[in-house]
Amino acid sequence: MLYQITRMNDSRQYTHFDTAAVHGGRSDFLSLGVHAPPVDLSSTYPVGDLASDMASIDAMVAGDNPTASPIYCRLHNPTVARAEDAIAELEGAEATVAFASGMAAFTAAVLVAGQRGKHVVAVRPMYGSADHLLVSRLLGVEVTFTTPDGVAAAITPDTSLVLIETPANPTVSLIDIEDVVRQAGAVPVMVDATFATPVLLRPLAHGATLVMHSATKALSGHGDVLAGVVSSNDQEWIRGLRQIRLLTGSVLHPMAAFLLHRGLQTLPVRVRAAQANAQVIASRLAEHPLVAKVYYPGLPGGDTHGVMPKQMHGPGGVLAFELVTEHPDAPAQFMAALKLIVPAVSLGSTDTLIQHPASLTHRVVDSSVRAEHGISAQLMRMSIGIEQVDDLWNDMLRGLNAVESMTPVLAASV
Ligand SMILES: *Cc1c(COP(=O)(O)O)cnc(C)c1O
Repeated sequence: MLYQITRMNDSRQYTHFDTAAVHGGRSDFLSLGVHAPPVDLSSTYPVGDLASDMASIDAMVAGDNPTASPIYCRLHNPTVARAEDAIAELEGAEATVAFASGMAAFTAAVLVAGQRGKHVVAVRPMYGSADHLLVSRLLGVEVTFTTPDGVAAAITPDTSLVLIETPANPTVSLIDIEDVVRQAGAVPVMVDATFATPVLLRPLAHGATLVMHSATKALSGHGDVLAGVVSSNDQEWIRGLRQIRLLTGSVLHPMAAFLLHRGLQTLPVRVRAAQANAQVIASRLAEHPLVAKVYYPGLPGGDTHGVMPKQMHGPGGVLAFELVTEHPDAPAQFMAALKLIVPAVSLGSTDTLIQHPASLTHRVVDSSVRAEHGISAQLMRMSIGIEQVDDLWNDMLRGLNAVESMTPVLAASV
């Protein structure tokens, strides 16, 4: 058993995470007489009793759920709310707020923080666009970037949020959440746990105030949804996030919410299958002479600070590696030789993806910052899927052979 589910589903009783993944957000199905979540695409809702409609609007403007009609689709959507309930259950959270993308979710959290204090602390490395957004100061808050050990020193009287990502992008480094929470003191901590999913990590249980995911990734899981979620046990934060979403119009589309909710059913199965494949690929890469370094917390020495046993249920399905050759065309040649693995950004899909962070996901990050955090020109990041592992490895050999043939000097020396 991974986690004890504390919130019992109204009509069906269960205590295990895997069951919650299948049944979460479905407590009213028997009374509705449906088996699959209804998709409510209404952009508006007919006015009924004016007095109760006014009360419903007041509730939503205050950041609560509607007391009667949802009124208008930017304010609330029942299909989105079902997916939120399901994720809250998996996260061990009081509530979840769903956004149109991971970046919309991140933005909303920083905007809520900005109402409380105009400074945030962020631990690098983090998702490229999140880093870029903070550097831009577009959201009206100042940022201090630091290391996992430097959080306490970076906090000022104006600090309203500490932002960390674990496992971090793209080198899969792990951060000890409880240590960061201790350093942050009274300042809330938000963990971007996209790489781990709640199958492997539930940051709220380790003292984080907020946990966010790009649900575009493993939560929806099939590469056909753009979505972001923030979960918390803190009602003030939840209300603040809903208020920002309502005002800025960053709500998740109900069709995307339906697909996300559907994806959750197989989340534990997919994550474990991808993780088993990743462990094999990482081990084989680590033994290959054309590979200089493999970043994967499941390898001996891969979890440098011993964080995994404290807070994670496995190393997950993302890994990164560096080619031995410093030939600038090597990553492109490697990807061009592949016949199965898809050269693409993103992660957490059923199919295996590979990308070159320095050219793609972390292109918007300053090159000196990239260098400092191990995002070298030779680094490749893979999101392992649920295909048969030997098919994947044979494709990796195509990539490695292509690199070998372009560097005859190095190949002769190994
Ligand atoms: C993809 C991603 C994001 C951004 O999410 P979008 O859904 O693309 O807006 C944020 N954090 C991490 C770790 C991601 O992988």
